Amino acid sequence: MRTEPLYRWLMPRVIEPLGARLGHPRWTTARRLDTLQWEAADALDRRAAAGLRPLLEHAGRHVPYYRDLFARVGFGAGDARGIADLARLPLTTKADLRDAFPARATAENIPESRRQPMMTSGSTGLPFQFFWDRAAVPAMGGTDWFWLGWAGTAPWHTRLVLASPAYFYERLTPRRRWSALRTRLMLGERIERLAADRTSADNLRAVVARIRRRGPYYIRAYAGALAGLAARIEAEARPLEAAPRAIISFAETLTPAAAAVIGRAFRAPIANYYSCWEVPQIAQSCPDVPHVLHVNAERVIVRVVRADGKDAAPGESGRVVVTDLANLVMPFINYATGDQAVAGEPCSCGRGLPTLARIEGRASEVIRTPDGREISGVALGQFLAFVAGIIPYVREYQAVQGALDAVSLRVVPTPRFDDAFRLTLERELGRFLGPDMTVTVEPVTEIPLEPSGKRLIIKPLAAPTAALAGR
Ligand SMILES: [Zn+2]
Repeated sequence: MRTEPLYRWLMPRVIEPLGARLGHPRWTTARRLDTLQWEAADALDRRAAAGLRPLLEHAGRHVPYYRDLFARVGFGAGDARGIADLARLPLTTKADLRDAFPARATAENIPESRRQPMMTSGSTGLPFQFFWDRAAVPAMGGTDWFWLGWAGTAPWHTRLVLASPAYFYERLTPRRRWSALRTRLMLGERIERLAADRTSADNLRAVVARIRRRGPYYIRAYAGALAGLAARIEAEARPLEAAPRAIISFAETLTPAAAAVIGRAFRAPIANYYSCWEVPQIAQSCPDVPHVLHVNAERVIVRVVRADGKDAAPGESGRVVVTDLANLVMPFINYATGDQAVAGEPCSCGRGLPTLARIEGRASEVIRTPDGREISGVALGQFLAFVAGIIPYVREYQAVQGALDAVSLRVVPTPRFDDAFRLTLERELGRFLGPDMTVTVEPVTEIPLEPSGKRLIIKPLAAPTAALAGR
């Protein structure tokens, strides 16, 4: 049944005013974000600092891990004035919090009922258990909703999720099933799911042909899986029956090359949603300047920290370091997500929200060279496209780090690819990665998805994350 017109009518007239009047965090959050985005940058900074101070005092008093950390470096949580004070604290890594979990990483003064147990699958080789703060969960619905507007779609449009089979929402407990039914009735929200590693262009076309009858839809997907499908759809010259309103890419680096092929094949704008399980909803593409990401300053303070420990200036890259203002149960303060990004400058759209110029690579996608460099998926992609000039010769690629000093570049060749180009590419890439790295270029017929449904640009050595945790 086509319910979309009903909800398009009901939402602004009935559901939203009612939800706001009842003080439901979904609506109050969405409205607050809608207003705050236009505040000046220094006003938003002061707002974040006002949220940071109580978090630091709370963690310093009630969370043993931070209590000890602050004591060790002589940090007085009460003296912190602003965001800049975070630079006086060492970074905390996944390995640190994994060691401290649960007793030392969790606030002693908050009832256990507020702990929402979470776990990441360990695609970076390091499975990790942690707690969300249940008190912060309802506001996430509001952020999600607000960001759907940024992406150019709406909550009552069908959401087509293309992700791993183990994706969070698929593990439907009776409680979550009831909550999904409630949201569907209240908001008209409908979700269709496809497993990224079992989806072909044909069954995607079939699903779209079915759901388009209900009205507009949008896609949330891993960038890699979607780029593969987009290439297939383009090669077969058989587009989907209806274009999605928007594509929201998440969990993987969206490279410029992937964004281009996805945009062409799906005929839709792409938003980049940047989040990690530990600290969700970190940033999303600006609706007006799509290559810029705006930070969710209402929840997260984001720093980009250079290798020398200093904060990166706009245009410089470094590690993404986040502080979650909303999780009091298990605080994440100055937490290195493992991702790399380039710091941004104020956005020309006029929003005061802080920016990231781009996400350079997720934790799982880094080549580590014997001379100590970390090459991200985006850095590799830029080298291959603009220096080595692979585009006429290579349809898709994946770098596999098989040993500390060996990288194999798997390529799906175009008809123009030949042995001479293979040797040139080997030589160029060898120069880029340094004399201590052995490089081979290996033509293959396809690049398979990982069991998780993701397709990594870089398949790293199963690296101990602790090793890159150097402060
Ligand atoms: Zn902007």
